[in-house]
Amino acid sequence: MLFDIVTIFPHFFDSPLKDGVVRRAIEAAILKIRTVDLRDFTTDRHRTTDDRPFGGGEGMVMKPEPIYKALKVLKEEPPEARVILLSPRGKLLDQAMAGELAQLGRLILICGRYEGVDERIREHCIDLELSVGDYVLSGGEIAALVVIEAVSRLIPGVLGCESSAENDSFSDGLLEFPQYTRPRIFKGWEIPEVLMSGDHARIAKWRREQSLGLTYEQRPELLNRAKLDEKDIKYLRSLGWEKS
Ligand code: SAH
Repeated sequence: MLFDIVTIFPHFFDSPLKDGVVRRAIEAAILKIRTVDLRDFTTDRHRTTDDRPFGGGEGMVMKPEPIYKALKVLKEEPPEARVILLSPRGKLLDQAMAGELAQLGRLILICGRYEGVDERIREHCIDLELSVGDYVLSGGEIAALVVIEAVSRLIPGVLGCESSAENDSFSDGLLEFPQYTRPRIFKGWEIPEVLMSGDHARIAKWRREQSLGLTYEQRPELLNRAKLDEKDIKYLRSLGWEKS
């Protein structure tokens, strides 16, 4: 999968892509990530990418021309791309959306700065406006990295162990059960006895109930869309949950 990141800070991405899962996927040629310096698509001496807002007000707005030109050049090149504008006003990125994006061959990610991007880019030049959460960042660069990490771990071959994304939080609409590793007793804090039992059915049941309980406690709204069977519903009811 190819990611093209359109940004005024291309060097922002040097170090975050140098470690971990993403680096390995780049080395294995499963991922290719390119940064596109928006200033290369300016024509003035100062390589200007922003200007004052029409109608007045604080701050600066990203000019439409450099972004338009960058997109034009990028889109002339195959493969076909989905163009995404990162913005707090966008659709919220969740695991299901990450899964959909992971099916695609190429994403172009546009990073805003300042007060955001001239609205005409959103109106005419993009396929999707995407937010990584209900808070405001100072730029789209970190949001782009969030998209890259969340999407790329769902591409086959990117995670070392294929099954590790399957159990992750949200994969079935629930939060993941607690995990423990050695030592069995640390500072007198013991791991749950069931995990030492060797009884796989009991462990599976315990993990499922932990997932349900944690989701009920931390993110009850997720339960309305989660895949639940009769047993799950019975267990949740015993905790006090009422389906809304
Ligand atoms: N004034 C804008 C915020 C601009 S923040 C507003 O209130 O909507 C500057 C840039 O940071 C945005 O253009 C966007 O690219 C990025 N950004 C900020 N928060 C983001 C979020 N939650 N998700 C994705 N991108 C975000």
